[in-house]
Amino acid sequence: MTADCLFCKMIAGEIQVPFAHQDEQLVVLKDINPQAPLHLLIIPRRHIATLNDLTPEDDGLVGSLFRAAATLAKQHGYDERGYRTVFNVNREAGQSVFHIHLHLLAGRGMGWPPG
Ligand code: 5GP
Ligand code: ZN
Repeated sequence: MTADCLFCKMIAGEIQVPFAHQDEQLVVLKDINPQAPLHLLIIPRRHIATLNDLTPEDDGLVGSLFRAAATLAKQHGYDERGYRTVFNVNREAGQSVFHIHLHLLAGRGMGWPPG
């Protein structure tokens, strides 16, 4: 738990939010400002500020985040249609919450390259 971290406060229950899904490693939130019909944030319970802070010990955790994204995409009917997963890292990528989270976006056509 990092005291000034929004997602740590949510995970600790200091800020009460409904989780769309949770298990012992991660929680899933609906994004407050959705950029697609489905926009979920898949968040590890443990505080890791950016992808730059990952260690080899986190490999299993990161795999779990991606597998949760695939499961959630399938549950919402987007596995065949398609979906996008994104980690924003630092300023130029637009990271605004410094506790890693995997964005799962689906339900509309997506441009490439991303903006
Ligand atoms: P980032 O810009 O760091 O990649 O993504 C942070 C995401 O968290 C943004 O998409 C933003 O809309 C979302 N967000 C910020 N504050 C809240 C909040 O209080 N509740 C929820 N559910 N999402 C939030
Ligand atoms: Zn945190």
